[in-house]
Amino acid sequence: MQILTDTEQSNAKSYMLQLMEEVFYKCRSLTGEGAYDTLKMIQREIGIQINEVESGKKVFDWTIPEEWNIKDAYVLNSNGKKVIDFNDNNLHILNYSSPINERVKFGDLKNHLYTLPDHPEWIPYKTSYYQKNWGFCLSQNQYDSIFTDEEEEFHVVIDTTLENGVLRYGELYIPGKVDQEILISTYFCHPSMGNDNLSGVVLATFLGKLLKEKQNFYSYRIIFVPETIGAITWLYENRDSVNNIKHGFVLTCVGDKGDLTLKKTRSGNAEVDKVVEYVLSESGNDYNIIDFFPGGSDERQFSSPGFDLPVCSLMRSMYWTFPEYHTSADNLEFMEEGKIGETAEYYLRVFHILENNKFYRNLKPYGEPQLGKRGLYRMIGANKDQSVEEFFNEMAMLWILNYSDNKHTLLDITLKSEIPFNQLLAAANALMEKGLIIET
Ligand code: ZN
Repeated sequence: MQILTDTEQSNAKSYMLQLMEEVFYKCRSLTGEGAYDTLKMIQREIGIQINEVESGKKVFDWTIPEEWNIKDAYVLNSNGKKVIDFNDNNLHILNYSSPINERVKFGDLKNHLYTLPDHPEWIPYKTSYYQKNWGFCLSQNQYDSIFTDEEEEFHVVIDTTLENGVLRYGELYIPGKVDQEILISTYFCHPSMGNDNLSGVVLATFLGKLLKEKQNFYSYRIIFVPETIGAITWLYENRDSVNNIKHGFVLTCVGDKGDLTLKKTRSGNAEVDKVVEYVLSESGNDYNIIDFFPGGSDERQFSSPGFDLPVCSLMRSMYWTFPEYHTSADNLEFMEEGKIGETAEYYLRVFHILENNKFYRNLKPYGEPQLGKRGLYRMIGANKDQSVEEFFNEMAMLWILNYSDNKHTLLDITLKSEIPFNQLLAAANALMEKGLIIET
């Protein structure tokens, strides 16, 4: 089963990497201008609605935080030389740092510095959203070259504001034939990093663009939220309508070159689990399957017991498991080497199966209906020239007729018969055309 040709997949990758590049260096966070600029880019591409929720509002057990904005941040050494500069890389700032303008001895400053000794060239990504703090992240090498004297005095400037404002999230609703929805959720709050999670942002944008152009069976709802607080806010604002969600996906870490990974839904046996597993197994490529656990990304909000929505996550290398995770090495080159175009293809295959995974009812269930007189059966048993394909097409029809009992979906029949889904779909369509079965 292939939906996008290899060329289309490679064009899709170029498109997504271009979007990523455009906003890569914005200093995103839960709130603020960098996040807003990113939402505006998505809006330009697919026309999302941008919603605002005011600071201080209670959303379940949480409160919308103050809006954070940053103008500049740097550290000067005792000679007045800029030794750490936010303008070099926005990962240098502890995200959501409070403002400060003070002289601080290295002995005190070091409690506010974060490095990664195991990867001395990389800058770590750190946040302090819900506890007021300030700090800088830098490579171990940079640290070692700057800080040698405990008594040296540094001038620390963090020009940020934390004030009442809004938290924003984006939403695109694409109505389908039925009200039941497929939810695609991704988060845009991380600053300059690719796999986590501009990859999710640009893939959701790309999928939105394609889905908008198609007639879909399901309605699709694509949401772009800041992680955790944004998903909780969205759930709060939509708490009375989430029951329309039939299948869901959290898009995170979809752009590296690792094998595909399915993190299953909380129940582990939702329709979407079976569909993704089938797509992965049918591909012939290696893949990983992980049971749900209540850590990781926003699947844990959608799967909290009050909602318990069938939301899975189809990723490449899972967060935490790749060394570049939450560091400056999760950069555009890392994405250039990755396979985001192929990930798009997998999502489209999954949507294709979900959209066509119907139950059928046999309208002539007493014995086999006579297929020959309807032009559906060619000389079975008497024709030595029958091709293997014809044989399988006929077998496909027999499987469909037998299991059009309102209890087996097309994927169930696929798994029983080991005939590819698309071949069974073609057989089911032929049988429907002749009035032998109906979709239920
Ligand atoms: Zn992350």
